[in-house]
Amino acid sequence: MVEIKSVTKSFGPVEVLRGIDLTVRTGEVTVVLGPSGSGKSTLLRTINHLEKVDGGQVSVDGSLVGYRRSGDKLYELREREILKQRTGIGFVFQNFHLFPHLTVLENITEAPVSALKRSKAEAAETARRLLTRVGLAEKAGAYPRQLSGGQQQRVAIARALALEPKLLLFDEPTSALDPELVGEVLDVIKDLAHQGTTMIVVTHEIGFAREVADTVVFMDEGRIVEQGPPSQVLDAPRHERTKSFLSKVI
Ligand code: ATP
Ligand code: MG
Repeated sequence: MVEIKSVTKSFGPVEVLRGIDLTVRTGEVTVVLGPSGSGKSTLLRTINHLEKVDGGQVSVDGSLVGYRRSGDKLYELREREILKQRTGIGFVFQNFHLFPHLTVLENITEAPVSALKRSKAEAAETARRLLTRVGLAEKAGAYPRQLSGGQQQRVAIARALALEPKLLLFDEPTSALDPELVGEVLDVIKDLAHQGTTMIVVTHEIGFAREVADTVVFMDEGRIVEQGPPSQVLDAPRHERTKSFLSKVI
């Protein structure tokens, strides 16, 4: 379970998150919508401590993210502990972020070998199983530049899964793709959703949200304006701001 409590974050004078409260239950999918600049990426980044919060706290499965508590005080974790914590939280970026000089297989085995101390053989076996799962078994020896955007993003998803994360975060995973490649990536994410993977997905794909989200969250100007099941937030939004946003993206 992910618990986000009263999270605030500013960049200089700009308050980007203005008190975010959100709970994501284990096995559930939360889709986050909102206009550009509303704080969606910043919120995702606070969940694995890529951004430090100014106030409030995030916990994943009961562990505070980025901090440990001692009495009333919070102490930031050391870099090594933060990295360890982060291996349990997969992050899939808009622009794939694959290592260009590594093959597909090496992209997937790199972190399990270096962070989880898996043997190369074991990591490679897992990687091949994951590549089959995302429909790319035959691409193990290819380099990222030899793949389409949709294929690269599916490799990025396999790479995230290789660390057996308890939570997966997706930041607009299909918005850099040509329209005809969006479906193949969404199908992989849907498949994960149906298998009970806990996920937070920032996307403007409303059809996807309607099909797989347990909860849809609409953000604007650093706040959650409304949240609820897709049937409510997408089909019967209560707030004018949500209505006007949805009328533009659908
Ligand atoms: P988009 O839909 O365009 O991706 P978003 O909802 O993901 O938008 P964020 O990327 O979270 O929005 O940004 C929210 C605000 O914070 C924006 O005004 C942005 O310019 C600002 N911001 C984000 N990261 C930084 C940073 N590292 N330094 C300064 N300002 C930042
Ligand atoms: Mg963003």
